[in-house]
Amino acid sequence: MSEAAAVDSAHYRHYVGGRFVDAASGATFDVVNPATEEVVATAARGDGEDIRAAVGAAKDTFEAGDWSRARPSFRREVLFRAADLVEARSGEIQRLQTLEMGAPLGPELPGPHPLVTRSAWNLRFFAEEQEQAGDHAFNRDDSLLTYTISDAAGVFGLITPWNAPVMLSTWKMAPCLAYGNSAVHKPSELSPLSMSLVCEIFEEAGMPAGVYNMVLGYGREAGVPLVEHKDVTGVSFTGSPGTARDIAARAAGSLKRTSFELGGKSANIVFADANLDRAVPMAAVGIFANSGQVCVAGSRILVQRSVYGEFLERFERAAARWRPGDPMNRKTRLGPLVSEGQYDHVMGYLDIARDEGRILFGGGRPEHLRKGYFVEPTAIVDIDPGSRVCQEEIFGPVAVILPFDDADDALRIANDSSYGLAGYIWTESQTTAHYVSHRLQTGMIWINSGFDRDLRQPFGGMKNSGLGREGGDLSREFFTETRFASFPLTPRGDGSSG
Ligand code: NAD
Repeated sequence: MSEAAAVDSAHYRHYVGGRFVDAASGATFDVVNPATEEVVATAARGDGEDIRAAVGAAKDTFEAGDWSRARPSFRREVLFRAADLVEARSGEIQRLQTLEMGAPLGPELPGPHPLVTRSAWNLRFFAEEQEQAGDHAFNRDDSLLTYTISDAAGVFGLITPWNAPVMLSTWKMAPCLAYGNSAVHKPSELSPLSMSLVCEIFEEAGMPAGVYNMVLGYGREAGVPLVEHKDVTGVSFTGSPGTARDIAARAAGSLKRTSFELGGKSANIVFADANLDRAVPMAAVGIFANSGQVCVAGSRILVQRSVYGEFLERFERAAARWRPGDPMNRKTRLGPLVSEGQYDHVMGYLDIARDEGRILFGGGRPEHLRKGYFVEPTAIVDIDPGSRVCQEEIFGPVAVILPFDDADDALRIANDSSYGLAGYIWTESQTTAHYVSHRLQTGMIWINSGFDRDLRQPFGGMKNSGLGREGGDLSREFFTETRFASFPLTPRGDGSSG
């Protein structure tokens, strides 16, 4: 463990060049437990000076080559050790995440928490991928041999949100680091605690100092200088479309590559022939898990008219199993929203829903919880699909439930959205599933299921839900520089036919 461990107290620091350090300015900000509204820690408040130090450390390490030009098997070993340590420290990681952003700890399991398992899987998957990845060689008749070279591209800025801090961060860090780059990571100001454990883990796993750096703080103060830094090759961002626009505009100045994983208003389409015993509880998981603060949440539930009434009754019964409570209690399924700002944001939409539609159940603060940013599981019905609550991302435990007549009607409603992240289809008909999945304007589609992932698949969205895809070869493409080298094979020596 580091000589100056990050989590020896309730004060959390940046991690720069292999050391935990305070902000150069000495500034800090408070970290609030959303379940109690109490300040539980302080964190270093980064700005341009801290970013310059972190990018400098990352660039020096990159140029030294201890990681960027190391054997792929060395990087694989380090990342595998890190993955083992992430699993071994699963309980600590999960507790810090619960403290900073309110996700319930969930039931005691024999192994690590599923989100922590996914984080370890991210590390192992890309560690393995980079070791196996090969370049292409093209041999054109006997005149030219040309081959591609894909290697580490430089220093990347990684900017992440708070809703699954370690899982979403490792999804970017794993390919970035596996392919030999260095990184400066700016986690969300709402979840600055849990990533400190990952810094300790990387150090213990043997990652050279300066490969991974973390600067805590706010978007305007620490995110902007990271995006604008001339020595940053690219920015991989997960968050809201408004922030992505700002990043795109600033990155344009130095023609940086960018990758954007953004929000959603995903349709969960339930046909009359669906198995409701599965579709209903999964629809509840799709909008109530993590209090609806999930980018791929199925927040617009579309139900074929002939089973609409039955669906509503069953969905209300399923929602009753999502009683809000203390997220540290292992029996709790629904925790608080992340912050007061998010609570006000969700409550604002519930006011609109009361004016423009009808709240079927929920719609406010649970009576038994007077403190904390809790919102009851809520369903909104009798509302126009064009209304703001049907069009905008609420990011809370709030479903709108709309009836439809047939597949084309479902597609018309589902595709009438500025977002296009995920879609869910529940039907026993393969023909319907194919018809709808080919026409649904979303980056990801789950049929009679949800959330399962193969990390080789392209992850990302259409429209305002993203630009670019991550996963498998697509992550490799983003995080490497691909070039070619060419040999003439003819006596003339030019090898070219134009
Ligand atoms: P956000 O855009 O407010 O912030 C995300 C990150 O960007 C934070 O670290 C923040 O500090 C930083 N930031 C803010 N302004 C910045 C700027 N001008 N320049 C650089 N960095 C800046 O989003 P959020 O509220 O933290 O996260 C919620 C959003 O993220 C939702 O829209 C959700 O759907 C989306 N999300 C998408 C995915 C996905 O994979 N598609 C996954 C999770 C969350």
